[in-house]
Amino acid sequence: MKKNNLKPKKFFGQNFLSDSQLIEELIEEMNIKDEDRLLEIGPGKGAMTNLLLEKCESLTAIEIDKNLIRFLEKVFGDKKNFNLIEKDILQYDPKELGRVNKLIGNIPYNISTPIIEWIIDNKSSFDEVFLMLQKEFGERCFAQPNTKSYGRLSIFVQCFFDVTAIREVDKSFFNPPPKVQSIFLKFTPKVLDITSNSVLMKNLSILTREAFSKRRKLISNSLKSFFSEQDLVELGIETKSRPENLSVETYIKLAKSI
Ligand code: SAH
Repeated sequence: MKKNNLKPKKFFGQNFLSDSQLIEELIEEMNIKDEDRLLEIGPGKGAMTNLLLEKCESLTAIEIDKNLIRFLEKVFGDKKNFNLIEKDILQYDPKELGRVNKLIGNIPYNISTPIIEWIIDNKSSFDEVFLMLQKEFGERCFAQPNTKSYGRLSIFVQCFFDVTAIREVDKSFFNPPPKVQSIFLKFTPKVLDITSNSVLMKNLSILTREAFSKRRKLISNSLKSFFSEQDLVELGIETKSRPENLSVETYIKLAKSI
């Protein structure tokens, strides 16, 4: 194989992890057990895959880049617990695999939003999700009310998952280094969620779009086509609230009462 086949490709968001100490620390945080069945998004050259394979019952890796597929087949092809699929993760249905308990990915940052949507759509397939994300994007996922990062992404992700930050990761740990800093997060699906109710989810989407498109306006103003001031008072919402002041639970309450 020609060496330049594996030159990192920007359009596939290829920033390979290059520090073995860091990789070990990240894998330590995932607490991989013998019986774990893993799904890895974008294994790249297998920086994490290699160590994960030593610890788990099985690992299925979904990779879009043909050249990397060939490389991975050569390197890991004879490992019995390795399963490699050439596919766009967004087109992949994890139910094909049966039970998988952990989803892992140092994902391409240029498709972070569709990957989060894909994870939400497939959340019943996983017990735990570990993702490397661009720092600001990651911070929006776990942001709490009354902070700058809090917005629609926080509300949607937190309807479905408890999110914790494991650690920030400096760009120097990647090859090539991305332009941005990174953060490694753990997502644990919530046991009780409201998300089987599609009307409610649609209402939540409409309300949060209205509210956060006018971030600095009062809720009583930006949501006035849905709620009068009286309605808001009856729902226990301070009429001087701005969108970032309301909790995820309050948005759900609003969505239920449209
Ligand atoms: N996990 C590796 C590589 C991270 S770079 C490491 O940490 O070193 C992101 C990887 O995702 C690349 O291998 C890239 O080819 C792959 N990728 C990009 N878009 C993808 C998609 N839509 N579906 C699956 N893999 C994708």
